[in-house]
Amino acid sequence: MKKLENKVIVITGAAMGLGLAAAMEAAKQGALLSLVDYNEKALEEAKEALSKEYPDTKVIIVTADVSKEEDVKKYVVETVKAFSRIDGFYNNAGIEGKQALMTEYDLDVFRKVIDINLMGVFYGMRYIIPIMQRQQYGRIVNVASVGGIRGVLNQTPYVASKHAVSGMTKNAALEFGKYGITTNAIAPGAILTPMVAEAFRQVNPEDPKAAETDYAKANPTKRLGLPDEVAKVVVFLLSEDASYVNGQTIAIDGGESNSY
Ligand code: NAD
Repeated sequence: MKKLENKVIVITGAAMGLGLAAAMEAAKQGALLSLVDYNEKALEEAKEALSKEYPDTKVIIVTADVSKEEDVKKYVVETVKAFSRIDGFYNNAGIEGKQALMTEYDLDVFRKVIDINLMGVFYGMRYIIPIMQRQQYGRIVNVASVGGIRGVLNQTPYVASKHAVSGMTKNAALEFGKYGITTNAIAPGAILTPMVAEAFRQVNPEDPKAAETDYAKANPTKRLGLPDEVAKVVVFLLSEDASYVNGQTIAIDGGESNSY
């Protein structure tokens, strides 16, 4: 039996990175997919790649910016129109922002990170939870970060927004557990995606590969994580198997957060 057979799963930030890897794994496990991203071209390419690999998977794409409430309402309405229900929600879209000291942080970039990472995650739950309440069933996986359980130099808005994701996860778990809805968060360490490649370019513009190698040295596994390694945990949390896991922020970081 596939883990997500006939489950309707919404994934935000699905065009690349962790979102796309989860979409592929969910398709493999039998899900029906609603893929959301604000990068229209990349989203269409992602759908093409997914349909090539899993031609029988029913998938819709919705171009939407998760930081805009009206866009969030749109992706929820379009998903329900297409599939009549929402069983699982991978609330994943997020950005890192620019790296700078708190005292030098650009205010517009700060607000943008909060708008996407905090408000985007909130709006998603705000409009999907009522549907799950009516169904008396739902699985929510929010994306925090190791920056949601500890500090990260030069990334104040990112750390603030990811701690908020972890906090909202606890609240959703408390408020909606009685409706058969579980809400958890994942806290990935450094996983090789386009976002992390950009972070290493910011750390060492001359030699981003050297920054990556340096970072990997501090990890117990001596390597960075792969999107697929995150996707498998996400699919478990979105499945019926994870029925008594609720309100947790689960690190997927090769054990690195234990050394701080
Ligand atoms: P990525 O940049 O590779 O992909 C993110 C996707 O989200 C892109 O397709 C982008 O277009 C989309 N997106 C960004 N803002 C959006 C918005 N406002 N509306 C709709 N779509 C939007 O990033 P990733 O590494 O795959 O990260 C995914 C999530 O995982 C983020 O929340 C990130 O903070 C978190 N995370 C990643 C890592 C890592 O190591 N890669 C670690 C910890 C947490």
